[in-house]
Amino acid sequence: MQEKGTISIHTENIFPIIKKFLYSDHEIFLRELVSNAVDATQKIKRLSSLGQYQGQLGDLQVEVKLDKEQKTLTISDRGIGMTADEIKKYINQIAFSGATEFVEKFKEAKDANELIGKFGLGFYSAFMVAEKVEIQTLSFQDGAQPARWICDGSTEFELTEGNRTERGTDIILYINSESEEFLEEHRIQEILSKYCAFLPVPIKFGTRTTSVPDGEDAEGKPQYKQEEVDNIINNTQPIWTKSPSSLTEEDYLSFYRELYPMAEDPLFWIHLNVDYPFNLTGVLYFPKVKKEMELRPNKIKLFSRQVFITDEVKDIVPEFLMLLHGVIDSPDIPLNVSRSFLQADSNVKKINTYITKKVADKLSELYRKDRKIYEEKWEDIGMFVKYGMITDEKFYDKAKEFLLLTNTDNAFFTLDEYKEKTTPLQTDKNGELVYLYTTDPGKQDAYIQSATTRGYDVLKMDSPLDNHFISHLEHKLEKTRIKRVDSGTVDTLIQKDETIPLILTEEQSTAVKAAFEKQISKPGMQVSVESLSPQELPVTITMDEFMRRMKDMAQMGGGAGMHFYGTLPDNYAVTVNGNHPLISKIASADESEQQRMAKQAIDLALLSQGMLTGSDLTAFVKRSVEMI
Ligand code: ADP
Ligand code: MG
Repeated sequence: MQEKGTISIHTENIFPIIKKFLYSDHEIFLRELVSNAVDATQKIKRLSSLGQYQGQLGDLQVEVKLDKEQKTLTISDRGIGMTADEIKKYINQIAFSGATEFVEKFKEAKDANELIGKFGLGFYSAFMVAEKVEIQTLSFQDGAQPARWICDGSTEFELTEGNRTERGTDIILYINSESEEFLEEHRIQEILSKYCAFLPVPIKFGTRTTSVPDGEDAEGKPQYKQEEVDNIINNTQPIWTKSPSSLTEEDYLSFYRELYPMAEDPLFWIHLNVDYPFNLTGVLYFPKVKKEMELRPNKIKLFSRQVFITDEVKDIVPEFLMLLHGVIDSPDIPLNVSRSFLQADSNVKKINTYITKKVADKLSELYRKDRKIYEEKWEDIGMFVKYGMITDEKFYDKAKEFLLLTNTDNAFFTLDEYKEKTTPLQTDKNGELVYLYTTDPGKQDAYIQSATTRGYDVLKMDSPLDNHFISHLEHKLEKTRIKRVDSGTVDTLIQKDETIPLILTEEQSTAVKAAFEKQISKPGMQVSVESLSPQELPVTITMDEFMRRMKDMAQMGGGAGMHFYGTLPDNYAVTVNGNHPLISKIASADESEQQRMAKQAIDLALLSQGMLTGSDLTAFVKRSVEMI
């Protein structure tokens, strides 16, 4: 048997195009060839179990071998093999059946994955790294003859009798001079660990030594010797392929450690398992993230039938779940097509919805099962929940049942519970419920105390995300306003009907206002004399809630429209409490005394806001010492 021929393709020398074009992703050739070997192995197993193959299965390992002298890399399997006719059909023709289309499209394609998958170029990706590829194969079929195919990357090939004596296939790559990195053991090991770590058939690469028992010495001590054993690089049965009921907590934890050796143990996990209307399995873990919003995306690995594809799951997993870790395996995700196509793909949309629902269900289950434990984990999961509520309408609807708010006493409330708690005291004269929050209990302590002495509750909203979350929540909740505790005096934050009469005369009030205005050294401060309760502070400096929120968002880099707010100067309201004894004293003092006291009162207010700094602070301290 001897045959020479031309690979059926309309364009001469397509390989140089492939080679050049697919430059960046060269390493995936190994994924493709090992997957083919695994496919062939799975097929012989299936035929055997169906009784269509009666022979011995034997040792079904796939082996990857390096020969530095020959400069070859060989992938061998004991799968179904190919007859010469099958080589013609599957290698010469099928791979390039879409050749014309390929040549049309290759200009638009963005990466190797895209072309290789779409045009069945899996096998041909070998030519990215090899100057010559040889196939030695023997089909499982009765009476089959071994066949050998060799091709140097032009469209010429040679098909002759082969030398394989056992069922299966060797793919021998004669590595080209630009690709010698693929003759390095560590490089091959690296690629195999990346793409092949969970393939369903054992993959052997080289050997390693291990200690094995070797009898006892004269004193009866056990002896060991070093022995070479096959180095199997993969775990053929990763947990996502198993049924959840057969797995223990330890199984999930140890798999997590296998995936992320450096990470802390996860909080909990979700086992995904659907087969209709799409096929998807996987395990998603909730890592410990804490407040710092440790954004480390690309922690979810995407597989297709246990072959690693990518860790960019951007369009498959809802954005707010990008912080999750774990694996997703789906043969139904179109892995090899472009981004824009992926976004429009209906399976991808369904998968997205499914994952969101599973995560919501899991959280709801945890909340219902043990509120105490749920509260303990809230610090870590709160951010997922809030982010999800902001970005995903459906998730909001589910999560509003198990979202927790925390107040300054570290008590937890659901939205319903909190509404019930605050309605009696925190409803203003217009029937609007006002929630108060602090972003920094230490700095805003004076304001918190003013609020709590009135019996008001103050929420803690101190994560970077809370800014956006508050705006979203306010938009969602009916007749509810959310204000930072220092964005007004207690009376203006929650306006009640009862008004307190001002004890200053109009004349005194004007004089006090003027005295304070004269002492203000910072720009953007508006003074007003108000009639507050005598228990309130004499002077309060506040920044309008809306303005502050917009500025904060602009600072966090939120949206184009936000930028405008970032450019505005800071504006503060200086509220002088006309009913406070100190202000009465200022009102009835002579002018120079008035100035001195006003200055001191303003500085005290600035000091409590953390706004008194530098030479102003030094002058204040000096003046205070003199006064004592
Ligand atoms: P795909 O794997 O998507 O079918 P490939 O280009 O990777 O495309 O392979 C083309 C065909 O060549 C396979 O479908 C299979 O029939 C055959 N083939 C490739 N490698 C092997 C192998 N190791 N053993 C048996 N058949 C193989
Ligand atoms: Mg393939």
